[in-house]
Amino acid sequence: MAPIGPIRQDHYDRILCQVDLPAPLIEGEIPLARRSQPRLPRRPSLVGRLLRLLLITGLVTGTVLLLMAGPLRRWLTPPPVAGLNARLSADGRLLGHFPFPEVPADRLVAISPDLSLRPQAAEALLGMQRAAAADGAQLAVLSAFRSISLQRQLFFDVKAERNQSARDRARVSAPPGFSEHSTGFAVDLGDGRLPATNLSTGFDRTPAFRWLAGNAHRFHFQLSFPAGNAQGVSYEPWHWRFEGSTEALRLFEPAQRLAR
Ligand SMILES: [Zn+2]
Repeated sequence: MAPIGPIRQDHYDRILCQVDLPAPLIEGEIPLARRSQPRLPRRPSLVGRLLRLLLITGLVTGTVLLLMAGPLRRWLTPPPVAGLNARLSADGRLLGHFPFPEVPADRLVAISPDLSLRPQAAEALLGMQRAAAADGAQLAVLSAFRSISLQRQLFFDVKAERNQSARDRARVSAPPGFSEHSTGFAVDLGDGRLPATNLSTGFDRTPAFRWLAGNAHRFHFQLSFPAGNAQGVSYEPWHWRFEGSTEALRLFEPAQRLAR
């Protein structure tokens, strides 16, 4: 028996060749055991958790902001008219009336010692009165531009005088800041021969009203609050607004849209 000596290099190579190596895998072939092995749940990383937290915070903030933009904000903001316990509706109306800015005084012209209008409305009104007179109807101007402070007096003083609730009062008169009269484009008209019908629904049986109903559109005047109007304001056969200028159209567009 040969003594055991150091392993020679050629022996070593032969031993290595005899070791059973696993047959190489065919490309694409995964052992069945590994294919069906369930994945172990991995703990989310810190970055992942932060991202998830950010996403949830964003969603909550977004929802709150959406609510703030809508009903919640309306309830959080104070009523738009001091002393009037009423809030704006979703389309910006107060007790049915749309908001209107007050026209600056230097953009008005006098149509009589104590009545004024925007120049285009004044000119159209004069033309309309002449045309009506030619047809035998007498159009009397009862009211034209009203400042917001005058509207405030009209609203609150008459409301107190008549012991009306704000809601009842708003059916017949706009709250201050919500009157078409503040724009300088609206007028209250009566029949010059039948003053007893002034500012009453009986005006719609006068010759002046009948003439207006058939002709006012030719002068760009339109009845703002016809019977059963979509705004829920009382029928006002005497109240007409001028829509013959770009600015008037822009101001009255929300009301027109609601009426359509
Ligand atoms: Zn009016």
